[in-house]
Amino acid sequence: MTDKQSAKGSRGHSESDGSGPGTPEVTSLETVGHYVDLVASRLGLDEDVREVMKTAYREITVQVPVKMDDGTVRLFQGYRVQHNGARGPYKGGLRYNEKVDLDDIRSMASLMSWKTALVNIPFGGAKGGVNCSHVELSKRELEGVSRSFMSKVQRVLGPTRDVMAPDMGTDAQVMAWLMDEYGKYRGHTPAIVTGKPISLGGSLGRDSAPARGLVDLFQEAASGVGVSPNDASVVIQGFGQVGCWTARLMRDAGCKIVGVSNSKGAVYDPDGIDIDAVREFIAGGGSLSDYDRAEPVDPVQFYKIECDVFVPAATAGTINRNTAGLLDCKMVLEGANSPTTPEADSILEEKGIYVMPDILANAGGVIVSYFEWVQNMQHFRWSEHEVNERLEDTLRHAYREVQGRAKEKNISMRLAAFELGIERVADAERTRGYI
Ligand code: NAD
Repeated sequence: MTDKQSAKGSRGHSESDGSGPGTPEVTSLETVGHYVDLVASRLGLDEDVREVMKTAYREITVQVPVKMDDGTVRLFQGYRVQHNGARGPYKGGLRYNEKVDLDDIRSMASLMSWKTALVNIPFGGAKGGVNCSHVELSKRELEGVSRSFMSKVQRVLGPTRDVMAPDMGTDAQVMAWLMDEYGKYRGHTPAIVTGKPISLGGSLGRDSAPARGLVDLFQEAASGVGVSPNDASVVIQGFGQVGCWTARLMRDAGCKIVGVSNSKGAVYDPDGIDIDAVREFIAGGGSLSDYDRAEPVDPVQFYKIECDVFVPAATAGTINRNTAGLLDCKMVLEGANSPTTPEADSILEEKGIYVMPDILANAGGVIVSYFEWVQNMQHFRWSEHEVNERLEDTLRHAYREVQGRAKEKNISMRLAAFELGIERVADAERTRGYI
């Protein structure tokens, strides 16, 4: 096995982003901006406060030069956007993807501010990215990108300033390199990143946390929308960290996974797909388009698969004006960030499809990141059971708050979630005397 193959294999999947009917017609920055404007008007926020909410405190673009295996030097662009820190240290993932640009990172950083406020953890919002394709780099080159990026941004990071975590294209190994590089400047500091390997201070349960949160929320909401929480049929778009774990946990809860996709292909089986077999096939270097123990489906047919729950767990904007009308499900459980454009949201509403919005649905990741940070700050380790229980408590509490607000004001779960998040950030800004 070559270095490049082993780097791919270590993530358990090996693909890059693709395009197709899921390719968005509006950017994620426009999508998030739309909701922030809408909610700012609903809350009656003044124009200047609205401006503070819509723009970032700090945006950094850095050169990320890396010595490649063939001896040449490649220059990548790296970004870190610290959107709002009124409620605590900036917090948000680091994404490696060749399509990453500053606007993407801005939108995701702002989503993080609302998300951390919504689930009431003492963090602000941030996001980072490097425009490299993790699947095309060898393990040594990936390490080079990670160390080079950290050396450029370390001045504005810190356990009480800004804490990074994994996102698309990054994993526990990347976090380990980042922590190690930071330590060269500031001394050993495990709390500088979350989502680390367990052996280096990572939290038990962090790997599965976004998916566990999705499944907890699905079970809370299922019966209310006429879906059985223990034998629902589920389609999962994206089979990476979030999608694969969601498939496994849904299956363990008794649900049937009838469709899965990644950037290489999509498969369907009305009797249920063997998730472990797909996972092993991909981890072994196979392309989903070659998997022959389920029926291949084209990208359009994939959206049309009849199911109870559709889980977007890939990239932004896959549910858009071209695809929303195709969905044949009762619930959309948003694992990805910003997977649904505003126009698609209206189409889903007209179709009577219940949407569990991203800033609530996938908050399990940042909640357990917070638990990891707490454990690191206290030099103490919690059991996995304790982590999962606290995660469930935190999320169910947030769910009830969002549901209560949605009912009280007769608005969607998404608007209610944005309202609660933005309200709390604006309140922290005011209380500190910033606005
Ligand atoms: P990942 O890189 O591990 O996996 C992404 C998956 O999506 C891959 O299987 C990829 O092939 C697939 N994909 C990409 N484009 C696709 C397309 N057009 N159609 C179908 N599949 C496609 O990333 P991840 O960490 O699982 O993140 C997925 C989403 O979840 C992102 O939006 C991320 O921001 C969000 N998220 C991640 C975390 C986390 O802790 N990892 C937490 C919260 C939210």
